[in-house]
Amino acid sequence: MKPLVDRYGRVARDLRVSLTDRCNLRCTYCMPAEGLTWLQNDHVLSTPEVNRLLTIAVRDLGITEIRFTGGEPLLRADLPAIVAHAAALEPRPELSLTTNGLSLARHAPRLAEAGLDRVNVSLDTVDRDAYAEVTRRDRLDDALNGLRAASAAGLTPVKVNAVLGPGRIGDAAPLLRLCLDAGYELRIIEQMPLDAGHTWDRGSMITAGDVLAELGRSFTLTPDGAPRGSAPAERYFVDGGPATVGIIASVTRPFCGDCDRVRLTADGQIRTCLFATDETDLKSLLRGDASDEEVADAWCAAMLGKQAGHGIDDPTFLQPPRPMSAIGG
Ligand code: SAM
Ligand code: SF4
Repeated sequence: MKPLVDRYGRVARDLRVSLTDRCNLRCTYCMPAEGLTWLQNDHVLSTPEVNRLLTIAVRDLGITEIRFTGGEPLLRADLPAIVAHAAALEPRPELSLTTNGLSLARHAPRLAEAGLDRVNVSLDTVDRDAYAEVTRRDRLDDALNGLRAASAAGLTPVKVNAVLGPGRIGDAAPLLRLCLDAGYELRIIEQMPLDAGHTWDRGSMITAGDVLAELGRSFTLTPDGAPRGSAPAERYFVDGGPATVGIIASVTRPFCGDCDRVRLTADGQIRTCLFATDETDLKSLLRGDASDEEVADAWCAAMLGKQAGHGIDDPTFLQPPRPMSAIGG
């Protein structure tokens, strides 16, 4: 086994796998209203190609956690088959899914049966008009039904990912109330400069500090005190617990020093960071008849390019050319 070690001694054990760049929402902080030029079908990794990379990752490279994402991963008809393949790997990795949840009501039981352990469902507001404004689609009920179905199928703990765009701080408390009532774990994520329109602005973004102050008006939050390790969320007990809320301060309190993540894009590129400006092409190796060992070696070599931090606050910071939906969040 060759661990995925970078030049700073960090070891990647958590693999984020983007299965598609397509999506049925158009969240303002991620995609433009008109969508993007999608990857051509033959540029997207096939089911056997994804499965082969997952096998190499777990068997040869020490990956212990796999998160499927996109684009919208539920748009891939082969998702249950990919999950079932990953669940049969040894040592069995932890398997989760990040989804907008729109079609989760239909897919949750089958995914649980295939071996999926849990889901993160993205939901930025509980207000129907605001949801339609942020996602540019009137689908709040579908997302809420998806959340309920995930819970019923045992894909727990169900986590809710919320990104609050500029001016949307008022959504924080109602989201937390919904999550407390339904038994979901809310995680509020600072918006990052990964929107296709490059409109992100450090001055108007809602920060972790803003969120804590806002939630503090309605709830008593106390740090949970547990060591955070490589987890991006800072967790707080709500009103004494046991319920918690997580705040992911990717911009204002970066956690790059403890990062244990590596990403695979839908077109078979390894990215060592969301903000990486270079990628390593594994798809060409797969299609050029490389051996598993050659693929694993290229993956290890890619890790040496992982930067110490994302440098968003650095004056020389450059937003990566791919937006979040094409990287895999
Ligand atoms: N479509 C799925 C979903 O929305 O959950 C999976 C892909 S989406 C890119 C993954 C996560 O990235 C979502 O929770 C979304 O809110 C988050 N995200 C997208 N753009 C972001 C941005 N600019 N800053 C912070 N998070 C972002
Ligand atoms: Fe689609 Fe997810 Fe991006 Fe929203 S955040 S546009 S649901 S990929």
